[in-house]
Amino acid sequence: MSPAEALKKESVYQPDQKGLIFPDLPAFETFEEERTHRKQRLVAACRAFAQHNFDFGFAGHISVRDPEHTDLYWTNPMAVHFSQVKMSNLILANHAGEVVEGDYAVNQAGFILHASVHQANPDIVAMCHAHTPYGTAYCSLGRPLDPITQDAACFYEDHAVVNDEGGAVAVAKNQGLGVVEAFKNNRAILHQNHGLLTGSRHSVDSACYWFIALERACQVQLMVDAAATKPIPVTPERARYSREHVGSEYIGWLHFQTIYGQLAEQQPDMFG
Ligand SMILES: [Zn+2]
Repeated sequence: MSPAEALKKESVYQPDQKGLIFPDLPAFETFEEERTHRKQRLVAACRAFAQHNFDFGFAGHISVRDPEHTDLYWTNPMAVHFSQVKMSNLILANHAGEVVEGDYAVNQAGFILHASVHQANPDIVAMCHAHTPYGTAYCSLGRPLDPITQDAACFYEDHAVVNDEGGAVAVAKNQGLGVVEAFKNNRAILHQNHGLLTGSRHSVDSACYWFIALERACQVQLMVDAAATKPIPVTPERARYSREHVGSEYIGWLHFQTIYGQLAEQQPDMFG
């Protein structure tokens, strides 16, 4: 499915007046074009993770499905810092976590979690995971995010807490079914005692942006939880409205275009 086909919701942010400069959803003539595009966005997503200090040793990975060979996934190489990921060191891996193209190793235990989700959810195009400070802290509480801000409301009734023990290691032992199942009805998972995951049925752009937004929502929730007074939540109706209109996959894609534009100009080595 192309991003244009996946766009189900109209956005109030799209300009009414034609001819103005505004990001357009991409269209492709060939798989090769689309593959190159997805790989470039994957690299940019890794660089964005570096900018947000989402690195933690070799933990964390971003995957995007190959447009032609849909049982294969492009991902970042293991033990390479997010800031050093580029087109030439990406790897292509299969469901078993075997590298079928590229020179670098894959984080097999971690990648199998992604592969399992992708395999069970053929509509999920891209996934993100990292061991981020606020996300991992909030995940230890074992409760979903409250709709206390417009940004948090973007995840209202669209995220789940999964309490499998052992994280990605457990998945390697076939105990990670909770995450796989939870992604059927959600686009974000708070994996208890492990960290955050996002999945996108639209693009790696959207998966990356909503990961950044989810980490920030966890940060804000922790700040509010530490406050002396209780926050006033958004009503369920208002939270659903926010999710539909400012929390859509398209909006995630659109937010990411600001990140991509800045990275493409300032870090041209990512295309090397
Ligand atoms: Zn992990």
